[in-house]
Amino acid sequence: MKKIFETPIYEYARVPDQDAVSPVRHPVVVVGAGPVGLAAAIDLAQRDIPVVVLDDNDKVSFGSRAICFAKRPLEILDRLGCGQPMVDKGVVWDSGKVFRDERQIYAFNLLPESGHKRPAFINLQQYYLEKYLVDRLRALQAKGKPVELRGGNRLSAVGQHDSHVSLEVDTPEGPYNIEADWLIACDGAKSATRTMLGLDFAGRVFEDNFLIADTIMEADFPTERWFWFDPPFNRGQSALLHKQPDNVWRIDMQLGWDIDREEELKPENIRARLRAMLGEDTRFELEWTSIYTFQCCRMEKFRYGRVLFAGDAAHQVSPFGARGANSGLQDTDNLVWKLGLVLDGKAPEALLDSYSDERVHGADENLMNSTRSTDFITPKSATSRNFRDAVLDLAETYEFARPLVNTGRLSLPCVYDGSALNGPDCTTMPDALRPGSPAIDAPLREGWLLDRLGNGFQLLAIGVDVPDALEDGGITVTALALDPDESAAFARRYLGDAPGAVYLMRPDQHVAARWADFDAAAVIEALRTATART
Ligand SMILES: Cc1cc2nc3c(=O)[nH]c(=O)nc-3n(C[C@H](O)[C@H](O)[C@H](O)COP(=O)(O)OP(=O)(O)OC[C@H]3O[C@@H](n4cnc5c(N)ncnc54)[C@H](O)[C@@H]3O)c2cc1C
Repeated sequence: MKKIFETPIYEYARVPDQDAVSPVRHPVVVVGAGPVGLAAAIDLAQRDIPVVVLDDNDKVSFGSRAICFAKRPLEILDRLGCGQPMVDKGVVWDSGKVFRDERQIYAFNLLPESGHKRPAFINLQQYYLEKYLVDRLRALQAKGKPVELRGGNRLSAVGQHDSHVSLEVDTPEGPYNIEADWLIACDGAKSATRTMLGLDFAGRVFEDNFLIADTIMEADFPTERWFWFDPPFNRGQSALLHKQPDNVWRIDMQLGWDIDREEELKPENIRARLRAMLGEDTRFELEWTSIYTFQCCRMEKFRYGRVLFAGDAAHQVSPFGARGANSGLQDTDNLVWKLGLVLDGKAPEALLDSYSDERVHGADENLMNSTRSTDFITPKSATSRNFRDAVLDLAETYEFARPLVNTGRLSLPCVYDGSALNGPDCTTMPDALRPGSPAIDAPLREGWLLDRLGNGFQLLAIGVDVPDALEDGGITVTALALDPDESAAFARRYLGDAPGAVYLMRPDQHVAARWADFDAAAVIEALRTATART
């Protein structure tokens, strides 16, 4: 298993750009081949937009990082061609238990409703996700799609100009220069692009340390998320247990702020902690150990001229709630179709400001949830601790108190309420699908709704006659006409009490507008609004 992150899979190789007399211009350059940069590149390549990815490394990321991938990012990965290997390899889970001391306070189920292709969550080591993304990128390359992944290429200088971005890139054979119409910075939490452009990253650092021990063991704990407050094996602190593939278990233990890191990281001390948790007789091996601290912060905007920031480069949250990589994938899902329209000259650059507005809104929601979880798990004042303990006392007996227990509310996609791209709403349909909302999956007579919605603008017509396609300003809207009785879940989710519905869906499968009946002029107007052409 370690081989996956020890083996170079995109080694440095010389490219013609290094021998060009003057800097070669590319439509899009992505800096960073983490999950977010790779997802951006695949989405661009699938849309036939030429893209070069620069990464200073030559292999997938090592060690213990993301493990929980939520339903929405899995649906995005389906459209990128990587959802199935993720689900095949991952550990599917949707329930969990919360303990205090040795007592179970309550159990929960994140997806009590059936009728979705993808589960609420899977657990999978981040290096597998990155490997599947690189495999997919290579498969697209083999089909002649315009995508290049350059390992051992470190962005060392960046300059903004009216018409392009200039880049200096360091390689094992020395530096070279290129230019990009647009640069997508996905170079992680310590983003060199951000630093080189002198941009701020403001937020809050949390004074706590967490030990991560990825532990290989044969154990018969169920595939659930288990969270402890004040367990006997880590008094006064918290702990978390999650199953990953290959018999690896993620164990997180809160350590507090004033610790001796070197001492805590000694294998004999980690083993002693794990024996106290797992019992003296449990045989285990340590795959990976580290101590992490975290901050919750974001850039003021995610677009600065011709540079677009995504993923950890743009925002960073605590790991509670699994929002880092999950929200980064939602960033590029929002960005790439917009960039495609701008590059094609079919939409103004202002459409890219809506990327910043919508994803800043998403980041703020994530930051708020992640900060609340962190404050609940690690109360920083006597009053907060009293409140937390009172909630835990009540939650043992009373159901109403359980939603107040915050062990890391798990990542849900954001609704772009208030976005300038949203068109008219028809309020007789369910609120969960108001403009700005991500599409909700549903079973159809054949297959699943999200697989049929695709990657472009679509009119989803339910029990209403619509033409096969509409066109405006070179942008095509194709129709997907379905009967209300495709399935009960489909009718309930999309119609509610309405007899019929017409939804205009964006290429990222968010609702742009909806009506009870079809009106071509209204659809065209909503399409213009959704592409910033009004
Ligand atoms: C302990 C822990 C647990 C986590 N758990 C979860 C979870 O369960 N779910 C979840 O969704 N998220 C989780 N996360 C967060 C997740 O790991 C990150 O959000 C994710 O890796 C961000 O992806 P990225 O592509 O934006 O950045 P990164 O993964 O950091 O990738 C950045 C890439 O840019 C490259 N790079 C950097 N500088 C340059 C340069 N100058 N030139 C060229 N290349 C460069 C780097 O080599 C790297 O390949 C967790 C994080 C931690 C630490």
